[in-house]
Amino acid sequence: MSQSVSPIPRHPTVAVRVGHLSVGGDAPVVVQSMTNTDTADAVRTAIQVAQLARAGSELVRITVNTEEAAAAVPEIRARLDDMGLSVPLVGDFHFNGDRLLGKHPACGRALAKWRVNPGNVGRGSKRDEKFAAIIRMAVEFDKPVRIGVNWGSLDPAMIARMMDENARRAEPWDAAVVTHEALVASALESAAAAEALGLGHDRIILSAKVSGVQDLIAVYRKLAARCDYPLHLGLTEAGMGSKGIVASTAGLAVLLQEGIGDTIRISLTPEPGAAREQEVIVAQEILQCMGLRSFTPMVISCPGCGRTTSDYFQKLAQQIQSYLREQMPVWRGSHPGVEAMTVAVMGCVVNGPGESKMANIGISLPGSGEEPVAPVYVDGQKTVTLKGEHIATEFQAIVEDYVKRRYTTA
Ligand code: SF4
Repeated sequence: MSQSVSPIPRHPTVAVRVGHLSVGGDAPVVVQSMTNTDTADAVRTAIQVAQLARAGSELVRITVNTEEAAAAVPEIRARLDDMGLSVPLVGDFHFNGDRLLGKHPACGRALAKWRVNPGNVGRGSKRDEKFAAIIRMAVEFDKPVRIGVNWGSLDPAMIARMMDENARRAEPWDAAVVTHEALVASALESAAAAEALGLGHDRIILSAKVSGVQDLIAVYRKLAARCDYPLHLGLTEAGMGSKGIVASTAGLAVLLQEGIGDTIRISLTPEPGAAREQEVIVAQEILQCMGLRSFTPMVISCPGCGRTTSDYFQKLAQQIQSYLREQMPVWRGSHPGVEAMTVAVMGCVVNGPGESKMANIGISLPGSGEEPVAPVYVDGQKTVTLKGEHIATEFQAIVEDYVKRRYTTA
C-alpha cells in the first residue's frame, strides 16, 4: 500500500542542511517534534528528546528561554551523544535569544538549527537590532535558522500599516486576507533581511503558523508561490485529542498533496498522562497514509459491525499494531523495507478475505454465525486456518516469521 518514494510532485525548494539531515530539496518530508520539559533540567530534557527520537522524530526542538536553559544545552547534546543518538536539536528563542546566544556560545554551537520568531525578538526599534544580532551569530556559527512567524505574535505596527493601506484600496480586502498577507510579508521580509546580513539562502527555513485550517492552507499557498525556502508546516495550538489530530491532518494533507511542506510538526496538547511521542506517531501516520513516506508496518482493520461477535478482533488489531511499532527500532536496521508492510485484521469473512489478499498478511476472525475459525492469507494466498484459544499468539508468530523471510537482506 505505502510507497517510500512520493508520487506527488513537490514544490521545489533549496536544500538546507540541519546537522546530518537535509530539509527541502529532494529530501523526504522530515518529522519533527518539541519537548515540554524545563530545558534547564538537562537530564529530563535529554530523556524526553531520546524518547521522541526513538519514536521517530528526526529533529527535536527545545525551548531556550533562560540563562539556565542555555547553559544546559551542551549537556543535553552530550547526554544524547552518549546514548548514541545523533538527532539534531533545534533551539527555540523568544525575546532574549540575542543575549542568551551571545552569553552562551556553546549553546548556539550545540544546536543544529535556531528558531527565531521576528514578532517576538524584541519591541520597537530594538527588534531589528536584536534580530540582526542573532542572524550575525548564526552566520558566524554556520547555523541554519527557521524564521517562524506566528499569527499570535505578528508585529502590531506591521498589521496596523497593512490595515491602513487596505482601507485606502478602492475595494478593500477581507481582514483575514490582510492578516495572511502580513504573515507572509513578515516571513519574507525577515528572510530578506537575514540574507542581507550574510545568512545564506540555503540556511533559511520558513514557517507561518496559524491555528485555523483554512488560514493555514491560504498562508502556505501564498508562501510557496513566492519563495523557494523550505517550509516547516504545522497548525499551531491544534488542540487536544481527536480535534488536534483531525485539524492538523486536514490542513497538512491539503498542502502536502500540493507538494508544499518540507518538514512537519503536529502541535498536539497531550492529554494528561499521555505520551509526548503521540505527536511523532501522528506526523508519521499522516505521511504514511498519504504514501509520502513509510515508517512502521500498518494494520488495516475494519470498524466492526453487527456481524462482529466480540471485541476480540479489535484487541488483536491493537496488539498487532503495538507489536509492530515496538519491533521497529530493531527491524529498521535488520529488516529494511518492513516499514511498508501491511497487515489486515478483519472482523468477519464479508470483507476479510478480500482485504487480507491485498495486504502482505491478513486474518479474518469469525463473525456471528460463522464457523469459529480464522483464515490467514500470506501474499494473497490462504496458508492456514487458525482456531482455538491461541489465535493471537499464532498470528503474531506468522507475522514475525514472514518479516524474517521477506525482509532480511542476504
Ligand atoms: S468485515 Fe465483517 S465485521 Fe468487519 S465491518 Fe465488514 S461486515 Fe462488519
